[in-house]
Amino acid sequence: MKIIGPKLVVATHNSGKLREIRDLLAPHGIECVGAAELDLPEPEETGNTFVDNAELKARAAADLSGLPALSDDSGLSVDALHGMPGIFSARWAEDEAGNRDFTRAMERVWREVEEAGPEAGHDAHFTCALSIAWPDGDIESFEGKVHGTIVWPPRGDKGFGYDPIFVATGMDKTFAEIDPAEKHAISHRAQAFRKLVAALG
Ligand code: IMP
Repeated sequence: MKIIGPKLVVATHNSGKLREIRDLLAPHGIECVGAAELDLPEPEETGNTFVDNAELKARAAADLSGLPALSDDSGLSVDALHGMPGIFSARWAEDEAGNRDFTRAMERVWREVEEAGPEAGHDAHFTCALSIAWPDGDIESFEGKVHGTIVWPPRGDKGFGYDPIFVATGMDKTFAEIDPAEKHAISHRAQAFRKLVAALG
């Protein structure tokens, strides 16, 4: 893969994501700058896949900043719901005023899983797509997934988003009941980053 250092724009306005990515790339001599620090606008996520959305965010940030840019897009896909909420994972939590409430999103997932009937099962997976775009037009993407099942009621308070209703294959605790370090060892985001870091060489 092409050199991405020494400076990389992280195309996110989420300070938690920026911190996590900064920590992961620091050992590789890459300095991360947040999109908010550069006053870059957040483009509309109009893609049909996680990779499409990660790529359009990275491309917009690279074009506007003149620097290589990294972005991520992630979400929960439930088999019984034909992959929904998927790329709409954040939007399922939004009310009419745009406030996010994941209790509401988890309730909707469970209601629709029950409506799908017992034969539809409870299988689900999280996906994370990471894309790096260069100002010269090049782009590379990496995808990580973690498979598991949806449980009800929600359990645990350590995670975020849909973590309280997701149990990874081979575990009996939800992603919100296990320690963050344990989640970060197996998560979709960790797997996508492992691929990216391997490509850095
Ligand atoms: P985005 O990637 O910022 O567009 O948002 C993805 C959405 O997917 C988040 O707001 C969460 O709802 C959900 N999501 C992504 N990764 C995780 C995770 O590790 N645990 C729980 N929910 C997640």
